[in-house]
Amino acid sequence: MTRRVYLDNNATTPVLPEVLEAMRPYFGERFGNASSIHSHGQQTRAAVERARESVAALIGARPSEIVFTSGGTEADNLAVFGVAGHRSPVTGHRESVPADHIITSTIEHHAVLNACRHLEANGCTVTYVPVDGSGVVDPDDVRRALQPSTKLISIMMANNETGMVQPVREIGEIAREADVYFHTDAVQAAGKIPVRVDEIGCDLLTLSAHKLHGPQGVGALYVRKGTALSAQMYGGRHERSRRAGTENVPGIVGLGRAAEVALAGFGRGDDLKMAELRDRLETKLLGIEACGVNGADTHPSQSTRRMGHPRVPNTTNIYFDGIDGEALVIALDLKGLAVSTGAACSSGAIEPSHVLMAMGMGAERARASIRFSLGKMNSAEDVEFALSVVPEAVERLRELSPVWKKLRDSSLELRATT
Ligand code: PLP
Repeated sequence: MTRRVYLDNNATTPVLPEVLEAMRPYFGERFGNASSIHSHGQQTRAAVERARESVAALIGARPSEIVFTSGGTEADNLAVFGVAGHRSPVTGHRESVPADHIITSTIEHHAVLNACRHLEANGCTVTYVPVDGSGVVDPDDVRRALQPSTKLISIMMANNETGMVQPVREIGEIAREADVYFHTDAVQAAGKIPVRVDEIGCDLLTLSAHKLHGPQGVGALYVRKGTALSAQMYGGRHERSRRAGTENVPGIVGLGRAAEVALAGFGRGDDLKMAELRDRLETKLLGIEACGVNGADTHPSQSTRRMGHPRVPNTTNIYFDGIDGEALVIALDLKGLAVSTGAACSSGAIEPSHVLMAMGMGAERARASIRFSLGKMNSAEDVEFALSVVPEAVERLRELSPVWKKLRDSSLELRATT
């Protein structure tokens, strides 16, 4: 049987056995609706509230500030529309107050970007601050973008494609001084690096269970006490009237357990061990001709902290000139290794990654990029397995690539003339 190694943990992570165990009773004998007043309901209510405490503990918040959602996308939408959007009483569509202004970045996840674009199409003004070549926002750009009508700043904590950590503390300070709400999407940061809402100074923060070894389809939005947030769904008074709908009890229990495991992992140095594995993978892969880490030019040994900016410990995004990233993903899958490209598939066409393009990369190199992302289940053997299949797969694809031939010919010509 082919060995299978999964290095696509930024897409989703496998549910940890202890998380599955914690969830199991809530699919069976503990089935009560958490809003019911009888003992079945009390049992599940207690489980939901325990999970709320665990999620709050992971990010240094109060349990009452945690709103459970159906995932990161819903939490991002709730933050953006809840602060800057209003539902039209006439059309029912979400609209902004036309004079409102939002600041976000060009590298956000589409859950934030498309929510902002929707408000923009309905009259709101949005500033998309750029990133530098290493994929990092300059806080001064955020400061300069402020307007008297700015309602919300939404800048992610760690990017899902490059893993680059954004200067959220500085942005939090800017937001505080300007008295503007600050939302950060911490979906790819939580469980990988410490996340403390008071240190960040954010008013809203997004989490998703399936990126930290919990189940898919459940997440949370941290809402700082006193934040004026309008609910986006109409129904019962669940989640203190901030998110209507019967709670996904097994999912919430899973998120709570995953948060506990993630927090305990920092004490054991899991993040440092993961950085070691990632650095070995990256350093060895950089031995391949004509490739590089997407982000700042840096010595591989300094890869966890490039140009003074930290990176989450599990991610490396590498371009291999002259290959097509999609073809490499398929070739590696056939060998038993699961990785991904930064490219998103929209309307049947493979668009180069908006994140890599925002970093100033050409479309060809962006299409030649692959993301490797590790998780808690990965071992040193998994990294060795990746190292045993990637160089050969890259070489095979390059042998067939007219782009690679062109690149080789022009670099040979260059060498001959210099
Ligand atoms: N934000 C970021 C940074 C993500 O990486 C993702 C998922 O890829 C999301 C939001 C969306 O989360 P979910 O899949 O839980 O809807």
